[in-house]
Amino acid sequence: MPTGKEPKGNDTKTLMSFIIMAVIFTSVINIFMAALTSRHSQEISYTEFLQMLDEKRVDTVERQVDRLIVTEKQKEDGQVGIYSKPNTYIVGAVDDPELTDRIIASGATQYSNVENNSVIYEFMTSWVLPSVLIYIVVTLLMRSFAKRMGGGSGGPMSFGKNTAKIYAQKETGVTFADVAGQEEAKESLNEIVDFLHQPDKYNAIGAKLPKGALLVGPPGTGKTLLAKAVAGEANVPFYSLSGSDFVEMFVGVGASRVRDLFKQAVTNAPCIVFIDEIDAIGKSRDNQMGSNDEREQTLNQLLSEMDGFDSSKGVVILGATNRPEVLDKALLRPGRFDRRVIVEKPDLKGRKAILDVHVKNVKLSDDVDLDAVALGTSGCAGADIANIVNEAALRAVRLGRDKVNQSDFMEAIEVIIAGKEKKDRILTEKEKKIVAYHEVGHALATAMQKNTMPVQKITIVPRTMGSLGYTMQMPEEEKYLMSKEEMLEQITTLLAGRAAEEVIFNTVTTGASNDIERATSMARAMVAQYGMSEKFDMMGLESIQNKYLDGRNVRNCAEVTSAEVDAEVLKIIRECHKKAIDILNNNEEVLHKIAAFLIEKETITGKEFMDILEEKVSVEI
Ligand code: ADP
Ligand code: MG
Ligand code: ZN
Repeated sequence: MPTGKEPKGNDTKTLMSFIIMAVIFTSVINIFMAALTSRHSQEISYTEFLQMLDEKRVDTVERQVDRLIVTEKQKEDGQVGIYSKPNTYIVGAVDDPELTDRIIASGATQYSNVENNSVIYEFMTSWVLPSVLIYIVVTLLMRSFAKRMGGGSGGPMSFGKNTAKIYAQKETGVTFADVAGQEEAKESLNEIVDFLHQPDKYNAIGAKLPKGALLVGPPGTGKTLLAKAVAGEANVPFYSLSGSDFVEMFVGVGASRVRDLFKQAVTNAPCIVFIDEIDAIGKSRDNQMGSNDEREQTLNQLLSEMDGFDSSKGVVILGATNRPEVLDKALLRPGRFDRRVIVEKPDLKGRKAILDVHVKNVKLSDDVDLDAVALGTSGCAGADIANIVNEAALRAVRLGRDKVNQSDFMEAIEVIIAGKEKKDRILTEKEKKIVAYHEVGHALATAMQKNTMPVQKITIVPRTMGSLGYTMQMPEEEKYLMSKEEMLEQITTLLAGRAAEEVIFNTVTTGASNDIERATSMARAMVAQYGMSEKFDMMGLESIQNKYLDGRNVRNCAEVTSAEVDAEVLKIIRECHKKAIDILNNNEEVLHKIAAFLIEKETITGKEFMDILEEKVSVEI
């Protein structure tokens, strides 16, 4: 690390400035004190003092080395003598051998305090001691201040100095083998690794190393992991900071931190600088609401540093974010982050690969079918899968087994998706019945339509995330496209839970709120985003913001059109609702049968469900 002379010189300078400050402080205090005391004690001549002694007006005399402190007797009527205000006087010492006799003769008390009141003592107490005290207090204050700002190790004034070196990791211990299912991203980053290994090969042909690569993708897909793996593969120092590390209360701290970071990086090239969650500093500057000076300065510093260094030296900047759209355009232009590496949620193959990585240290029993697990985790990111594997292992331990089996995995998936079983929530018989019919309604609608996913499990055990029952469906294979028919059937399936309540009990309950929400947003997407309605043809009416996070919808059309969209959405919902009711009316008998089974057993597997269904159907034929 470049901890050369400079910080030391800084320290001496700081020390000096503090001593000077302390002395000035003390002088001010001393002058102030002097002004205070002079109001109470007044200097008088020796003759005046002798006169006071003669008149027996002196109460005490304190003898110091160079002076006498004289206090006057209080007069009986409470009034003070000739000098109205002060009743303490200072008299310059005169070499008078008879003084003691005179004092005794006047009846005054005499003290002498020669030792304590020496000149040196006075100098110490009024000058040196306060200076030292002030120095100590100020130093401590500055220390804690500096520590709060993250500059702990340096001298009191070195804010923002040497912070990056804390984050410099020699070994991340992660390689590409630990990152599964991100082949495209790995390929893209591999080139950077290769460049760091043998820059000559690239320089010879005239190819320049990309200055930076931005990892973009939803949370938990392994962006941070990938960056670490790049460092592990390249075997170079890895400077890792999170965007929020730069953002401080004080304007200029972040910028100085960026400067320090790059200074260190260039000295230690080749190396990798990784800025995680870069959106914390890289947010677009033209955001009118509440501009943030500190962040802007930090960003400007980052931009100029990225322009400033020579990439042939071998410094690569990696950034990671899940909000690429808020980043400042200047940051994204070629020459800064030249490359954008998309880290998507894994597909079926990817999920299987991630599972393989994470089960490496887990003991599996023979019945485990990781392909089925991968199929059931559609939509999960890498972090979710890591979590599922761990939950499964924990469950196996809880149940006293020494190996993880398939049921552990299936339960773990359910825990991640729907929450833990909540056995202590007691439903009344009536509620249990309604929940059972509701769930079987979903399941039957799925089974009776063509393009739907098979039922994996139905349960009416309440879960901690709020559901009272749960119908689990598993795709037979991963799909990347959805047709209009499939979407309509899925909406029908979602609405069939409520439809069952209506058909059987002729009533409605609050249990369908989540179904309704999902069905409605699906129908809205059909109309506004996918061009699946006749009325609006292929007109785009909504777009999605924050694609990699929650994905909030933004309206792109007039207020009036919006109202028409609502009408169109309602039309789809109505049709699907009616279809669901029709399906259940046509299958009322089997609905009763499966519901009775479910109420008794609380959980039905997909196979049991299909058995009852087929038995029924075959009997009818
Ligand atoms: P991000 O930075 O994209 O939000 P992380 O890199 O922090 O996500 O991933 C969190 C954890 O999830 C990792 O530590 C790892 O255990 C697991 N994980 C995520 N993606 C993968 C992957 N592709 N392969 C293996 N493990 C992964
Ligand atoms: Mg991360
Ligand atoms: Zn439902």
